[in-house]
Amino acid sequence: MFIAELLLNACIAFTGFYLIAKIIYSQRLASSNLKTLIVGLATGLLGVLLMFKGIAVNESLRMDLRHLPLVLLAFYGVRSPLIIATLIIGCSRFYFGWTPQAVVAFLAVLGISTGMYFIHKRLLHRPLLQNLIMNVWALFMISIAVSINLGFSDAALRLLASTWTIGLAVGLLSSLLTIDFQLLNEQVQRYKQSAELDHLTGLYNRRVWDERTALLEEEGRVYNVLALDIDHFKHVNDTYGHANGDLVLQQFARILQEETRPHDITARIGGEEFMVLVYDLTPSKVAKVANRIRERIANTRFQLDGFPAISITASVGIAHGKHVAAQRMNILADEALYAAKEQGRNRVILYEVDAEAAMTTQDREPVRS
Ligand code: GH3
Ligand code: MG
Ligand code: MG
Repeated sequence: MFIAELLLNACIAFTGFYLIAKIIYSQRLASSNLKTLIVGLATGLLGVLLMFKGIAVNESLRMDLRHLPLVLLAFYGVRSPLIIATLIIGCSRFYFGWTPQAVVAFLAVLGISTGMYFIHKRLLHRPLLQNLIMNVWALFMISIAVSINLGFSDAALRLLASTWTIGLAVGLLSSLLTIDFQLLNEQVQRYKQSAELDHLTGLYNRRVWDERTALLEEEGRVYNVLALDIDHFKHVNDTYGHANGDLVLQQFARILQEETRPHDITARIGGEEFMVLVYDLTPSKVAKVANRIRERIANTRFQLDGFPAISITASVGIAHGKHVAAQRMNILADEALYAAKEQGRNRVILYEVDAEAAMTTQDREPVRS
């Protein structure tokens, strides 16, 4: 008779795990505080549901798989949701009466979560073993609680035998599911990264650049396109070798990342050509940013393999506009870059464009360099 209730508990647990994992991996819930709260509450409620659908052994003792949602959160290593869910599950036990048994059950839940959190930290890279030990720890704590509450009676032993059998089976099965879910998610993230990021520099690739800039005209925001190109880069390759050229490109990309804001889009468009999309800045401000980047590059010693560090310079072309198609802005930034090269390199040239003028080819207005 215990078996049917515990199996129902198992079904509820599986469904809940699936939903909670979906929330944990959701890309839409960007705010981590909101996600913490939702995951904590959802897991806590799942535990409470398991408790309500569990076995009422007698007036004051309940048996169920309420520890399994906590195993899930401990495995994901999400501490704050684990604390929220532990408190919800622990405290809601008092709904069935303010009895000494409820206090023991509350302490058992606290002990289960605390222990599992440390198990997670110790066995971070052994997911299956970690899960197994967490399940055994939880069942061990439950056994102590039941022994205190029921004594070593036949009924207690039978109850514990069913709980260990079903608890371990369901616990391990859900562990496999959770690990699979995690591996799948990691794989998706890896594929996404390799499709979006340039493998040498880690910046966005040309595809992402084209996608992110495609709708700029309709957005109607003020924006700037910076085109950067390393000066005489062929000389670096010819003198120090292609591998050292790659090292320079990586260090160059790191500087770009450090000097731009997280919401600016920084992409490697081709060999040693980079583009940065900077929203909202006025011409004078964006020229200041570009000059800061240019100066930092000129003042950096680029580390090479087998040679002393070298200095390089870069030229920057900027197109500043609003309501202008990205393609047009890209071309103008390139033209500004070409002008910067023509005028001696290691400089910034900005072209300001407005929407009407962008319709003609005579719209370039060199502002400052
Ligand atoms: P300029 O000042 O006019 O820009 O001169 P430059 O020598 O930089 O001229 P150019 O843009 O024509 O040369 C780019 C060089 O970048 C040529 C190519 O061998 C090199 N390059 C392109 N992609 C890579 C890469 O992934 N790694 C390395 N190491 N070099 C690359
Ligand atoms: Mg170049
Ligand atoms: Mg080039």
